[in-house]
Amino acid sequence: IERTLSIIKPDATRRNLTGKINAKFEDAGLRIVAQKRIHLSLAQAQKFYGVHKDRPFFGELTEFMASEPVVVQVLEGEGAIAKNREVMGATNPANADEGTIRKEFALSVGENSVHGSDAPETAAEEIAFFFSGLELV
Ligand code: ATP
Ligand code: MG
Repeated sequence: IERTLSIIKPDATRRNLTGKINAKFEDAGLRIVAQKRIHLSLAQAQKFYGVHKDRPFFGELTEFMASEPVVVQVLEGEGAIAKNREVMGATNPANADEGTIRKEFALSVGENSVHGSDAPETAAEEIAFFFSGLELV
């Protein structure tokens, strides 16, 4: 059974949307098997998003992710990586399908409420970035 790393971003934690977003995951058959609220330092956000370091939005993205607490979580289910990305919707909420988290809650392409791993290798890396073996059952 597959696992993926999810982050509820500062625009959503600030607006008390954690419960509504978690309901979308659970309604889609994704099980929340680990979850914690943390406040990333700028250096930690830069490390996590290292793959985007040459993109024009890197500064904006990392400063936003370090601006306020986030909720990091591990979601589990059949095809969890793809299923989570389906539930999240398109990166830009203007292009997101009806019923998706980003359509319903995202404020902009930057402040888009959630992150989800995009492949098995990145899911494993991203889960290990935030959670120790002891925190995962
Ligand atoms: P994520 O990786 O957060 O799940 P994603 O895979 O849909 O989202 P990526 O292309 O990996 O999108 O971009 C990572 C994040 O960078 C986006 O979620 C968004 O917050 C931010 N981002 C992407 N494009 C832009 C942009 N043009 N302007 C501002 N921020 C952006
Ligand atoms: Mg991505």
